[in-house]
Amino acid sequence: MEPKRLGVIGVGHLGQHHARVYTEILGAHLVGIMDLNESRACHIGENLGIPYFSDLHEFISRARPEAVSVVVPTSLHYEVAKTALQNGIHVLIEKPVTTTVREAEDLLRIAEESELVLQVGHIERFNSAIQYISKTVKEPIFMESRRLGPFSPRINDVGVVLDLMIHDIDVILSLVGSEITKISAMGRCLRSEYEDIASAQMTFANGSMAHIHVSRVSERRLRQLEIMEPKRYLTVNYETQDVSIHRCVKENNSLIEVIEHPVFPKSEPLKLELQHFVSCVREGKKPLVGITDGKRALEVAISVLKQIHSDGSGVLDESLGDMTG
Ligand code: NAD
Repeated sequence: MEPKRLGVIGVGHLGQHHARVYTEILGAHLVGIMDLNESRACHIGENLGIPYFSDLHEFISRARPEAVSVVVPTSLHYEVAKTALQNGIHVLIEKPVTTTVREAEDLLRIAEESELVLQVGHIERFNSAIQYISKTVKEPIFMESRRLGPFSPRINDVGVVLDLMIHDIDVILSLVGSEITKISAMGRCLRSEYEDIASAQMTFANGSMAHIHVSRVSERRLRQLEIMEPKRYLTVNYETQDVSIHRCVKENNSLIEVIEHPVFPKSEPLKLELQHFVSCVREGKKPLVGITDGKRALEVAISVLKQIHSDGSGVLDESLGDMTG
């Protein structure tokens, strides 16, 4: 079977890894990369020994990719993904899908009309620990998620909610499978013009509750999720992909705590995500995380941002009105 012709648009911090991984996937042929920054495109292209471009239309017409990853800054996702889709190219768009719901809906319409695959890069769904707990968690009563790290000026077009919290929102929505009935949130701008620290509480129609705390101004790096179920609680370390399961059992008339560390295969989440994208393109399947999930996570993130704004601490006055529009 002919390998699929893949390309990457935007080969910065994350896009370089998309390009590298495509060279390692069976059934994928990386036919070229494109970056507006010519020296960056040249550096990555020469390292991988593949054609590189700094003009999108030239990349599309000369490299002729059948499918691309869009890994440009978030505020440019929409324009770049739309151009790719309009040229009949399947798209994996990094998270958050777009910065407004209307843009996400527009991409959904174009992809559906053209019968193209449109996957959203919510990479944590391909984290082996999340894949493991997705199969075993049945009654999440309370979830607590923390995603912290030191400040980096690299992401300068969105705040910590669209940059980091969106991962946790997507994972929690996928685990609960029920509608959110109430959101409250707070946040602060500390080092950038967007919120750098934020906390959100959510209540779901089925009674589940979640608390998500994110920060990009913390000394230490932490990526953790705790899930309370009626008879046990689970802890997920996103970085090591470890899960621990805590239960109380009765022994000799006293309660003792038992901790299990389930063993399951671990793999690079990005590799699993891109392999899935290539197989969806090959077989015309719907992706595990499609645009509907990406849009839903974005809607919740925008509600969180509105709460932060109404708290009086945000600086997002002008942009927030546009986000839902
Ligand atoms: P980055 O700034 O390091 O890289 C972006 C690259 O895009 C740069 O090389 C830039 O020159 C290029 N670029 C800018 N405009 C372009 C255009 N119009 N056409 C082609 N190239 C263009 O940013 P990054 O950290 O790699 O983030 C990129 C995207 O990936 C963001 O949306 C971010 O949210 C997402 N991201 C996702 C994860 C994840 O865990 N899934 C992690 C990091 C970043």
